[in-house]
Amino acid sequence: MKKMQLTTKIFIGLALGILAGIIFQSNPEIANSYIKPFGTLFLNLIKLSIVPLVFSSLVVGACSMDDVRKLGRIGGKTVAFYMLTTAFAVTIGLILANISNVGGDFSIPADLEFEITAAPSVIETLLNIIPSNPLKALVEGKMLQIIAFALIIGAGIIGIGEKGKVLFNFFDAFAEVMYKIIGKIMEFAPIGVFALITPVVAENGPAVLLPLLKLIIAVYIGCALHALLTYSSLVSIFAKISPLKFFKGAAPAMMFSYSTASSSGTLPITMKSVEENLGVSKSISSFVLPLGATINMDGTAIYQGICAIFIANIYGLDLSISAQLTIILTATLASIGTAGVPGAGMIMLGMVLQSVGLPIEGVALIAGVDRILDMMRTMINVTGDAACSVVIASSEGELNKEVVTSK
Ligand code: ASP
Repeated sequence: MKKMQLTTKIFIGLALGILAGIIFQSNPEIANSYIKPFGTLFLNLIKLSIVPLVFSSLVVGACSMDDVRKLGRIGGKTVAFYMLTTAFAVTIGLILANISNVGGDFSIPADLEFEITAAPSVIETLLNIIPSNPLKALVEGKMLQIIAFALIIGAGIIGIGEKGKVLFNFFDAFAEVMYKIIGKIMEFAPIGVFALITPVVAENGPAVLLPLLKLIIAVYIGCALHALLTYSSLVSIFAKISPLKFFKGAAPAMMFSYSTASSSGTLPITMKSVEENLGVSKSISSFVLPLGATINMDGTAIYQGICAIFIANIYGLDLSISAQLTIILTATLASIGTAGVPGAGMIMLGMVLQSVGLPIEGVALIAGVDRILDMMRTMINVTGDAACSVVIASSEGELNKEVVTSK
C-alpha cells in the first residue's frame, strides 16, 4: 500500500510541477536557479546507482545461470526463449517509435557535451564488448563492457564452485544494498519529479507535455502488440492453447503486476496462475518463473527502445542503424540485470542511453510519467514469463491441457 501512496505523491509532484512551470513561464530563470538544482540532485542520485547496480545484479544474474547449466536442456530452451522474445520486444519498440516519430514534434536543444558520439561500426561494437581494461570500463560507465565483465566474473564464480560462494554472497548483498538505496532514492521521486518538470514547462511551455502523452500511448500500444502478436502466436503454435484462454488464465498475475509494478512481488501469483489455470507443472513453473522474474523483461525492453528514440528525437539527435542495433543488444542484456521492482527499468534506461551516447538527462523528462509506463511494462514482463512457462511445459510434456479446457 505504501507503494501506491508513493505513486500518488509522484503524480501530485508532477501536477504541482506543471502548475509551477506554467506560473514561472514568464520568468523561467527563477525555476532554473532555485528549483532545477533539486532535480539535478535527484538525477545525480539515480546516475550514481547505475554502474554499481548493473554490475552487482548482473554478476548475481549470471550466477543464477548455474541452475540453468544443471537443468541443461530446459535451461537452455528457457534462456533462449527469454532472450529471443526480449530482442523481438525491443525491435517492436524501435519500429513503433520510428514509425510514430515519438517525440519528434518537439525539441529541446541538447547541451553540447551531449553531442551524439560517432557510432562505431557493428564489428567495432562487437569487438569493444570485451574490455581490455575492465576498471576503465567501470569508471567510464561503458555499459556493454560492464555487462560483459559482469557476466565473465559470474561465470568464473560458478566455475570455482563452493569457493565462489563467498563472492556470490558479496555481490548478492551488494545488489541488495543498491536496491535498498534505489528504494530510498525513489522516496524522493515526488520532489525530484516536481523539480525536474517545473523548469522544463517554464522554459518550453505546457506544450512540452503533449509528447509525453504520445510516449505513454506508444509504450502501451507497443506492449499490447507484443502480447497480442508474440505471446498469442507462441502459446497457440507451441502449446496449442488459444490465446484467449492463455490471457484469461494469466489474468490474476497480469492485474496484480499492473497495480504493483513489481514482477518479483507478483511471482507467487504468477506461479499460482500458471499452475492452477494453465496446467503448467510445478517443476517447470518453479524454475522458469523465478528465472523469468529475474532475467526476462520484455515490457521493459519495449519501453527502453521507445524511450531511446523519444529522447533522441526530443534532443534532435539522429540514431543510426548501428546505434539502434546497439540499443537492441544493450536493452536485451540490460533486462538480465533489471530487478523486478518498481522503477528499476528507468535506471536501466539511463544505461541504454549511455550506451549510444544519448543525454541521460532525457530520463528527467520521462521520470514524471514513469510510473504509468512502469505498470504496463511490468504487466508485459510477467505475461512473458507466463507464456514461456506454458511453452516450455508443453515441449516437455509437462502441460496438463485438461486444466485449461475445464476452465
Ligand atoms: N518494474 C518492472 C518489473 O518489476 C521493472 C522495470 O522497472 O522495468 O518488472
